[in-house]
Amino acid sequence: MANFRVFMMLILTVFVLAVCVESKYMVYDTSQCVVNDKLNVHLVAHTHDDVGWLKTVDQYYVGSNNSIQGACVQNVLDSTIQALLADKNRKFVYVEQAFFQRWWRDQSEATKDIVKGLVSSGQLEMINGGWCMHDEAAPHYIDMIDQTTYGHKFIKEQFNVTPRIGWQIDPFGHSAVQAYLLGAEVGFDSLFFGRIDYQDKAKRKADKNLEVIWRASKSLGSSAQIFAGTFSGNYEPPPGGFYFEVNDDSPVVQDDVNLFDYNVDERVNDFVAAALSQANVTRTNHVMWTMGEDFKYQYAESWFRNMDKFIHYVNKDGRVNALYSTPSIYTDAKYAETDTWPLKKDDYFPYASDVNAYWTGYFTSRPNLKGYVRMLSGYYLAARQLEVMKGRNKTGPTTDDLGDALAIAQHHDAVSGTSQQHVANDYAKRLSIGHKEAEKMVAESLACMISPKPGCASSANNIQQCPLLNISNCPATEADLSSGKTLVVVVYNSLGWKRSDVVRLPVVSENIAVYDSSGKEVESQILPVINESISIRNYYTAAYTGKSPSSTPKYWLAFTASVPSLGFSTYTISSKNRQGSTSVKDAIYKRTHAGNDDIEIGTGNLKLIYSGSDGKLSQYVNSRTSIKASLKQSHSFYAGFDGTTRLQASGAYIFRPNGTYPIGSQKQNITVLTGPIYDEVHQKINSWIYQITRVYKNKEHAEVEFTVGPIPIDDGVGKEIATKFTTYIKSNKTFYTDSNGRDFIERVRDYRADWDLEVNQPIAGNYYPINLGIYLKDEKNELSVLVDRSVGGSSIVDGQLELMLHRRLLYDDGKGVAEALNETVCVGDDCRGLAVQGKYYLRMDPLGEGAKWRRSYGQEIYSPLLLAFTEQDGNKGTDFQVSKYSGMDSTYSLPDNVVLLTLQELDDGKILLRLAHLYEIGEDKDHSVITSVKLKKLFAKRKITEVSEMSLSANQEREEMEKKRLVWKVEGSKNDEPTVQRGGPVDPQKLVVELAPMEIRTFIVTVGKPLAQRLVVRPCFQETSQLDLHVTT
Ligand SMILES: [Zn+2]
Repeated sequence: MANFRVFMMLILTVFVLAVCVESKYMVYDTSQCVVNDKLNVHLVAHTHDDVGWLKTVDQYYVGSNNSIQGACVQNVLDSTIQALLADKNRKFVYVEQAFFQRWWRDQSEATKDIVKGLVSSGQLEMINGGWCMHDEAAPHYIDMIDQTTYGHKFIKEQFNVTPRIGWQIDPFGHSAVQAYLLGAEVGFDSLFFGRIDYQDKAKRKADKNLEVIWRASKSLGSSAQIFAGTFSGNYEPPPGGFYFEVNDDSPVVQDDVNLFDYNVDERVNDFVAAALSQANVTRTNHVMWTMGEDFKYQYAESWFRNMDKFIHYVNKDGRVNALYSTPSIYTDAKYAETDTWPLKKDDYFPYASDVNAYWTGYFTSRPNLKGYVRMLSGYYLAARQLEVMKGRNKTGPTTDDLGDALAIAQHHDAVSGTSQQHVANDYAKRLSIGHKEAEKMVAESLACMISPKPGCASSANNIQQCPLLNISNCPATEADLSSGKTLVVVVYNSLGWKRSDVVRLPVVSENIAVYDSSGKEVESQILPVINESISIRNYYTAAYTGKSPSSTPKYWLAFTASVPSLGFSTYTISSKNRQGSTSVKDAIYKRTHAGNDDIEIGTGNLKLIYSGSDGKLSQYVNSRTSIKASLKQSHSFYAGFDGTTRLQASGAYIFRPNGTYPIGSQKQNITVLTGPIYDEVHQKINSWIYQITRVYKNKEHAEVEFTVGPIPIDDGVGKEIATKFTTYIKSNKTFYTDSNGRDFIERVRDYRADWDLEVNQPIAGNYYPINLGIYLKDEKNELSVLVDRSVGGSSIVDGQLELMLHRRLLYDDGKGVAEALNETVCVGDDCRGLAVQGKYYLRMDPLGEGAKWRRSYGQEIYSPLLLAFTEQDGNKGTDFQVSKYSGMDSTYSLPDNVVLLTLQELDDGKILLRLAHLYEIGEDKDHSVITSVKLKKLFAKRKITEVSEMSLSANQEREEMEKKRLVWKVEGSKNDEPTVQRGGPVDPQKLVVELAPMEIRTFIVTVGKPLAQRLVVRPCFQETSQLDLHVTT
């Protein structure tokens, strides 16, 4: 139908143009361009289409569930295309490719050709162009890159264009990483958004500083800066009645003198007044009107008809110049002015829309969804590597569904935790489906690598993975091995470094032992599975799978796996029937507060001291670094403001505490389990907070596994749960939080660099998003905490760090979602408040030493070892042909300051490669230096025939992008910026990639055939050997 309508519209347009002279048909002159000596009002027609919020992404697309919200993206796109065809001067921008590609695949070739014409003429412009408009607080930068790449790839393939504009109009605060990485480094010429702190916005309006040059990276400086404009309002039309959706109540322009209510003069006056008002807060004689809002243009003609008339009559009036425009045209107009622009550094967090409305609650909202997204993000990275190693399936499982689900989940109402519950469920369902599909591909790849032979992928059925391992559920490892079967554990490491890490598996028997691939027994440790874990396991397994687990593991088996870079090792687990087995069952040592002796935990360099008198953490001791420091931990909850009488409630977006209440402040019983690999301290903080702190013999940080929930609400009070670590570090109001897991930004309590902060919410107003970690320091020491998902955190008192772990609230906060953030989970009729289980990691270092751990261990947290399991008969070691493997040259390792962000096979068989320097300039004395990667070693098993350096989203050659880059003038600039370091060009013979601090470089690499296709040629391997095939292509 859509094609037919478009076709008819074309005919009608031609017909009308031909006969218009005779009729009373009015031709509006909409052809106006920029006029230099007038105030130019750039009318930017746009729709803001949330990729899920009050309805799911599919419901929004097809327009179902309209009792919740009358929104149908199909209507938006159908009607907008017609409206654009009706007048070639009309323009429209479209953003969310998750919707656009749904619509695109429904269209005929004829319609596609018409739309391609609209794109190439500039009438329809794709801006931003990611799968969604990602959030900027909760996503990890790797996810932001992936979802942007996904959308840009689609646009490039279909239209052969590269988006020029960043359009983050709705996210609730704006990150440094968005500006320099997802802005400048993808080749955007400008970035626009609506939401910044209301105090900041007021000052910027007064100073005409809404538009800035945003230099957000300390390390990349002016080489990655971008023109960034904050709208004077949000992203809606200006005040004065300019909304023209069918049911909107703005007065339409009535210009027919034969009808009543002719209002052209009034409406022109309204227009000019609104334009002058905006000009008062904007530099140059160009202002942008964002003509649209959420899911607008479902009947696009209504908007365009009124804009046609405005352009026609306003320009006849002549006081200001009105034109159809786009953010690109607007940016070019700004660039053409000779003005200099104010410089902006750091970021726009936190965002407050009002005195008591700090949008800092969503940093933690829906912690399980946030954890799920992060867990699958790391899995997706590893799975794509394994897909490259095997060769991408033409038919059969791929990582595509997971990529799609993860891209959707980065939307600013998805991972942010600000959608309705049924929509959050939809995101989780998509992730689960994508995960299952990717698991199949991973199993095929591993099957082909451990037993390379023709048809190897079919043996993938025997390989299991354990997506519920985080809740102690892994059927594969809970097998009974007493009958002589052996469990094989394949441990894959997606990092470019060798790695040793402790693997923990639930098992049913304590009489088992672990062997490496040469058949040698490795040290292992058995610990009991506690009742608290079992009850979480049973309940959540039933909730997730629909049935209760059949068996119950009694123990955790722990051992240290050593894994090559970008490769795997295999271990076998069998009944302990050998002599001299070294597996050790824990000495279980229960400590009660009755005694007074301090309790020391840890058998390596790190020791934690717990007070004998109250059972609480008291000291952190590292014998290697000679740190001996007081360290205390506490828990508390913030009571959520109810909002019934005093307006602003604490909710999905907003954090508005109404008092702080300690939890578990009395004496506590602790249970201590010790063993050769690690020690554990178990603390039941109260009836709904349980915590296990692990100190590993060979690591110098503490790992804290927490279970929080169900948060009780029977007292009618919503609660936001925080944990705090207190030291004597003299942090002087200063702490550091990461930007999307990448750069660290200095935060000063009750202070903003850009304006004199009026402090209204001393706690909520000092909260920041944390994706990698938070730290503080003084002249002697640093205290760092790293996280396994995005959370909110702060330092409200000097020397203290806090994380908000979970929140359950009873009132809607009035910011649109129209639900209280009260997550529950049900098994049958048994519904409970949601419990969250996760981890954070804590370490103290001498000043200047902390970055090494934050960066390298932070990467290990993001990319945990991928575990797969299979059974075989006997216990003689593996009978696989390959039991240890590195995807790179086995003698090579990436430098300590480099990480492999992307290794992905594209549809055409080429490889998308991203390498990232992990350190900022000046961050670490050893690692903040230019470094290099040898591609020939990285691709040791495949011959490289061509390497092209690309923009970050890989939609254009880097060189082309740099040629087009606009060079903006910065106010008061004395060219005193230190020279920015960047890696040099890649020599096509040497194939060495240089990386400067914080640099990410993206390449498309053409290589020879993948492993699996060559294995047929030479299927002979030696056990434990490096797989080292050099087959010419
Ligand atoms: Zn939105």
